[in-house]
Amino acid sequence: MPNQDIYFDNNATTQVAPCVLEAMLPWLQTAYGNPSSVYRAGRLARAAVDQARNQVADLLHASPEEIVFTSCGTESINTAILSACSLDPDKQQIITSAVEHSATGKLCDHLARRGYEIIRLGVNARGILDLEGLRDALSEDTAIVSLLWANNETGVLFPVEEIAALCAERKIILHLDAVQAVGKLPVDVSKLPGISFLSLSGHKLHAPKGVGALYVNRRVRFQPLLRGSQENTRRGGTENVASLVALGRAAELAASGIEEEQTLVRHLRDTFESSILEQASGVSVNGDCELRLPNTTNLSFDGIEAEGALILLDEAGIACSAGSACTSGSVTPSHVLQAMGMSNERARASLRFSFGRFNSEAEIQQSLPVILGIIEKLRRENPLGGSPVV
Ligand code: PLP
Repeated sequence: MPNQDIYFDNNATTQVAPCVLEAMLPWLQTAYGNPSSVYRAGRLARAAVDQARNQVADLLHASPEEIVFTSCGTESINTAILSACSLDPDKQQIITSAVEHSATGKLCDHLARRGYEIIRLGVNARGILDLEGLRDALSEDTAIVSLLWANNETGVLFPVEEIAALCAERKIILHLDAVQAVGKLPVDVSKLPGISFLSLSGHKLHAPKGVGALYVNRRVRFQPLLRGSQENTRRGGTENVASLVALGRAAELAASGIEEEQTLVRHLRDTFESSILEQASGVSVNGDCELRLPNTTNLSFDGIEAEGALILLDEAGIACSAGSACTSGSVTPSHVLQAMGMSNERARASLRFSFGRFNSEAEIQQSLPVILGIIEKLRRENPLGGSPVV
């Protein structure tokens, strides 16, 4: 029962892959043992969780002991930042960026109220991080640097090699929010020893919602957010076995599908984007076109309001986003586009289309005339007018 004819919002969440669903189902049906139980059903569940840990570790080129399972990307991010803060309470500064996901942004707002100095590094008009600003900001007082690997709204990538090298040189804890990167790009923590923590989320890579993981570099001190005996005392709570099995299978699928993301998904995105740019005037791409995830395009359409476009697209069975999922439904322009120096008007006229392995060329061809028609209609109805679709 698909609830959307055409789904171009894979940065918001992804379809659970059939092989992932198949792998998890027995753990919701007959195999319901608690991994902490010593009898057979428990031992089987324990083995399944261990296998999932190996699969996630393999995807990141980490060791299984470096993987802590969590309930989501948000929990992973909160765990990493709060661990660094509580282990080094004398350090009162956090360095992050102005374009982070709310999971980081809201936690930093909260910590600012607790007295932390939060440095939010800027980005340029293409969404590229101010690396010099990072170099200048790093200090003896820095508890943690927490930055995105890939931006959820624009897909723009931060220079993680340089960031990791800078933090390693200054021996400063670095957390990367790789929620949008994992599964879309090769992520190899063994090549970036400067990374202390890295967050990922199952529902962005074809596992269900409500499961995630935190990579904890074995050389880094760690303090749990949820205390209990599970996860080697690093994250309390009876393991969500079915979801962990799903995450493990999804990690395996992602590892074997990175090539596909780089070629097929990129081809879909590029075909879509170039067709829109060719067939409509007054359209601009938001964010750097090169240093970008292969699946994302964020476009501003002169003379439209994204909210209106989303309603018409939804009626036509096409799902995409205005800004990130968390900001859609509100009229405030995206903080990411604002940080890139964009006018409120252009930011409010932006739509994000994000593709995935379950999209097809046929869907692109089918949706293009519909999308262009909707843009034209909105521009006709806009009293201030806008560029015609050509
Ligand atoms: N970080 C980024 C970049 C995201 O895109 C998201 C989800 O949209 C999150 C963190 C939060 O992940 P979760 O939804 O698993 O809590």
